[in-house]
Amino acid sequence: MKNFINGNKILDLLERTERPSNYQVEKLVEKSLRLKGLSPEDTAVLLNCEDDVLLNSIFTAAKQIKESIYGNRLVLFAPLYLSNRCVNDCLYCGFRQGISNNKKCLLSNDEIREETQALISQGHKRLLLVSAEDPAVDIDYLEGAIKTVYDTKEGNGSIRRLNVNVAPMGVKDFRRLKDTGIGTYQLFQETYHSDTYTTMHPSGPKSDYLKRLYACDLAQKAGIDDVGIGALFGLYNYKFEVLALLFHSMHLEDTFGVGPHTISVPRLEPSEGSNIASRPPSHVSDNELKKIIAVLRLAVPYTGIILSTRESAGLRDELFYLGVSQISAGSRTVPGSYSSDKEAQGQFSISDERSLSEVIEELATSGFIPSFCTSCYRSGRTGENFMDLAKPGDIKNFCQPNALLTFEEYLLDYNPKLAQKIKALITSEIHKIPDPDIRKLTSGKMESLVQGERDLYF
Ligand code: SAM
Ligand code: SF4
Repeated sequence: MKNFINGNKILDLLERTERPSNYQVEKLVEKSLRLKGLSPEDTAVLLNCEDDVLLNSIFTAAKQIKESIYGNRLVLFAPLYLSNRCVNDCLYCGFRQGISNNKKCLLSNDEIREETQALISQGHKRLLLVSAEDPAVDIDYLEGAIKTVYDTKEGNGSIRRLNVNVAPMGVKDFRRLKDTGIGTYQLFQETYHSDTYTTMHPSGPKSDYLKRLYACDLAQKAGIDDVGIGALFGLYNYKFEVLALLFHSMHLEDTFGVGPHTISVPRLEPSEGSNIASRPPSHVSDNELKKIIAVLRLAVPYTGIILSTRESAGLRDELFYLGVSQISAGSRTVPGSYSSDKEAQGQFSISDERSLSEVIEELATSGFIPSFCTSCYRSGRTGENFMDLAKPGDIKNFCQPNALLTFEEYLLDYNPKLAQKIKALITSEIHKIPDPDIRKLTSGKMESLVQGERDLYF
């Protein structure tokens, strides 16, 4: 296996593009608005931009691109942690093996059902299954866990899409994982800088940099055509990591004809027992995080960007405008803690502690449409099919009405008080649907929801 992340090339690119001129940045901002993406060299120029006025023009372009591709919807999900018993020793993580006082737990099927019920009763439809690397969390266990989540019903609700963020596996097991009906398989490289990777992952299966780098290839080979990548910001120079994410995307696109479905941008959060997590070796400021998200939006306009509750409510509210398309809400990182007061250690501390309904209220009053849409993967719009629709801008024809339909369903079943408050927003959003046929169909489906039908989508 060859390391397709050429560290020296990235450092060279960053050095060659240092201190870009105003003209260079302005030209690239213009180029990005054509929605064809940017080369690594272009991206390096934007990452090296430190001028506040020019940075604002990058932020404005990111907002414009986000709106033209995704509209004003934001997809919501919550993580469901299965286990905090880990064979690895990632120096930044609260689950690592080296923390001996950690209360270890692995959820049973009954506990997974209770967790799922608790999440459904908040209104969630999309979950991300997360686990530490625990030998007990093998493919047999995962198959059982996923079946339990999908089989769980609570009132009108159920989970309609389950994404997975667990340790890498071989192609045979990935095939079994695909057959369970998952959406995206996510795995973060943490840092693409191989020496830093070696220092941060001193032991366990995760210490193998290349094995991790190729995990999404194996998932693709097994037929999982929506994969998600990410870097843990704070471990190494953020500009290096953004370019490496771009090279990773290009590698997947060259090899499988489709880049990653999503890129996650977690930032190191304090975690009990980890000095690294409290004092990140390459601290990323709030402004730098804004730049990371905006530049990624310009460089890979069709790739979803995921933001978690690691960030504070105030900052998240700003980042929503810059190109984020999916967010977690009401998250807990202690296995079992949605349904009981489990006394175990979480993976890291959460900054945005608002409940799902609080986040939704804030989004809706700021003019965003919270979406629980799961239509694409249930209608076969995944991998290349998804990109074929996304690239000419057609995906908006599905996203916006589906966002409205799933939001209306949420309001009817879980938040009638808010429904009254934002009636005008919903009506005006329906009027904004450009295609008259889709507009009419959406109004009809909205009426059917009020009459008691559920799970309506395009
Ligand atoms: N254990 C698997 C792994 O490491 O890939 C799967 C999921 S792990 C529980 C999810 C992610 O949490 C990791 O990939 C890492 O990026 C992130 N993480 C770990 N410690 C963190 C911390 N202190 N702050 C923020 N994110 C952290
Ligand atoms: Fe284990 Fe994942 Fe934490 Fe590393 S980041 S210690 S693999 S749970």
